[in-house]
Amino acid sequence: MSELKFGQSRGLSHAYIAASLSEDTRSRTEAILASAAVCSADNGKPCGTCRDCRKAAAGVHPDIIHIRRESDDKGKQKKEIRVDQIREMIGQAQIMPNEANGKAFVIHEAELMNTQAQNALLKLLEEPPRGVVLILSTATPTMLLETVRSRCVELTENDDAPALDYELKKEVLKYLELVAKGKKSYLLAWCNQKAGSTDTAGANEFVEAVKTVITDILCGREKGHGLTKNKCWALIALMDTCVEYLSVNTGVKHVFGMIAVKSIGA
Ligand SMILES: [Zn+2]
Repeated sequence: MSELKFGQSRGLSHAYIAASLSEDTRSRTEAILASAAVCSADNGKPCGTCRDCRKAAAGVHPDIIHIRRESDDKGKQKKEIRVDQIREMIGQAQIMPNEANGKAFVIHEAELMNTQAQNALLKLLEEPPRGVVLILSTATPTMLLETVRSRCVELTENDDAPALDYELKKEVLKYLELVAKGKKSYLLAWCNQKAGSTDTAGANEFVEAVKTVITDILCGREKGHGLTKNKCWALIALMDTCVEYLSVNTGVKHVFGMIAVKSIGA
């Protein structure tokens, strides 16, 4: 298979969880994802310079919609995000964007959606309208329903998280180098060797490390290593599929086989 299938053709997935204990970090991740959803550049979304990106940065893009806890009559914030708010959002998601080619919905404090709200959201996650990107922002992704969580690509960033182990990072950079240079046969050999020398825990560690490095690239904390942004989005989605496969005890060999075959075509 030469191409991964996503909710949309441009490499972006249709649903993300922006997870971090830091609100600033969450905001940064949200901003990048939302801009990418509306960006009108052909490549390298978000480009940061098109009209849509500039409006997104100024917080005035009409196709980036924020969902937050509502306040009651006395101005006190409600404890939950209610199902009505999610239903309204689902209605909006069916309507064509105002200006951009896509539409982004950012759900702040997504863990505060009550069960009914999350179940309503599931329908949208299963059949996302074309061009719609959902961004669930949360400090505690574990509080989301597993059914919701498993349908989103999770980007976790914690500034106080320990830096990646040196050897592990070296391996990730080696992998990314082979992908960036399009060296299929080297990548295949490298994946074979990796599959033979690691177990499920090691594979998980590697896949999570790839996601960390790529998230850092997208957020500008790590240099690009020759990868286009579209490639970064695609690799994150591929790694997420790997996490899912590993969680149901798919063999390490199979997972690295998938990485070997899909990384470069993706
Ligand atoms: Zn742009």
